[in-house]
Amino acid sequence: MKPILPGSTIGVLGSGQLGRMFAIAARRLGYRVHTYSPDRDTPTGQIADIEIDAPYEDLDRVRAFAAGVDVVTFEFENVPAPTAEAAASAAPVRPAGLVLHTTQHRLREKTFLESHGFPVTKFAAIRQPGDLAAAWPGFGSAILKTAGFGYDGKGQYRVTSLAEAEAAWVAMGQQEAVLEALVDFEAELSVVAVRSEDGNCVFYTPSANSHVAGILDISVAPSQFPAAVASEAQDIARGLLEQLDVVGVLCVEFFLTRDHRLLINELAPRPHNSGHLTIDACITSQFEQQLRAVCNLPLGSTEMLRPAAMANLLGDVWGDSEPDWASALAMPEVKLHLYGKLAARPGRKMGHLTATAATPTQAERLVREARARLAR
Ligand code: AMP
Repeated sequence: MKPILPGSTIGVLGSGQLGRMFAIAARRLGYRVHTYSPDRDTPTGQIADIEIDAPYEDLDRVRAFAAGVDVVTFEFENVPAPTAEAAASAAPVRPAGLVLHTTQHRLREKTFLESHGFPVTKFAAIRQPGDLAAAWPGFGSAILKTAGFGYDGKGQYRVTSLAEAEAAWVAMGQQEAVLEALVDFEAELSVVAVRSEDGNCVFYTPSANSHVAGILDISVAPSQFPAAVASEAQDIARGLLEQLDVVGVLCVEFFLTRDHRLLINELAPRPHNSGHLTIDACITSQFEQQLRAVCNLPLGSTEMLRPAAMANLLGDVWGDSEPDWASALAMPEVKLHLYGKLAARPGRKMGHLTATAATPTQAERLVREARARLAR
């Protein structure tokens, strides 16, 4: 495909914060942005030239949307397959096909990983009554997760007995699910990887991630794991970019076991929360890389200019009053990113803070302090 040059229009399916940060990167490079989702006054729509508010199931609107742009990308992987297909009938869609289909569904994703020899957490498919009882003897503590449309720990139940697992499956409406062994991990890390149409791959240094209640809380990079762990994580990410024929960004989330093996937890075929620190700390952000990849332009450098740490700001930070922004911004190394969401609800990702410093440990200390200041 010929490069899609500045001045062209990018269509974004979805309208959340990932689309917003993508749109900011695209606007900076002189592109126009149209966004499509069933909402209005959205994080992406506030930045885009045009915001279409229509259901994903309205395939005529989707086709008309795609006909008005030069390339379509998405900002979350749960765009229904017929929507992506309708868009593809009118414009190139990137990343396309296999990666979206595979990563929309935990069971498909894990089966793909296992059958292609990638290291993955032990799991069993739960589709019908009897599957749990048959699988359970191989599991001790486990997590039961819905197979479709899951993110940020939603649709997940920790279980320690077959009876608890059966009750959890009933609670999720006996829908298709994955029973996954609970990993006693030493740490969690992720690699954001990018591949262009000509097969060139670039990687960011892994982030070390900590979660609270299944939601990412803090990411720090560079991670302080042995160099061999970082290079193995990047090798696995390269294998995935190639096997899934990704043109765009892929984030691979890993568990690092106590005996220093990497197990893949999850894939995301787009920029990822753990890569937000690339905006303030790297030569090229993960969002600009998505733009470059989908427009068939050369990829930028992933080099990190300074160690960095990112802290998510969930709706909980608001409490009864507006957070004390000025107090956090009084720390000169701290950057504030707010997503323009209209209502702050507990658990909702409203923004993030990034701190850069001479070492990753200092950056983490600064970003934690900045977040604590918001509550004063
Ligand atoms: P997920 O949405 O599947 O990425 O899960 C969110 C978070 O829950 C992960 O980042 C982990 O902190 C935790 N988690 C999920 N699956 C497992 C597992 N099999 N073992 C241990 N922790 C898990």
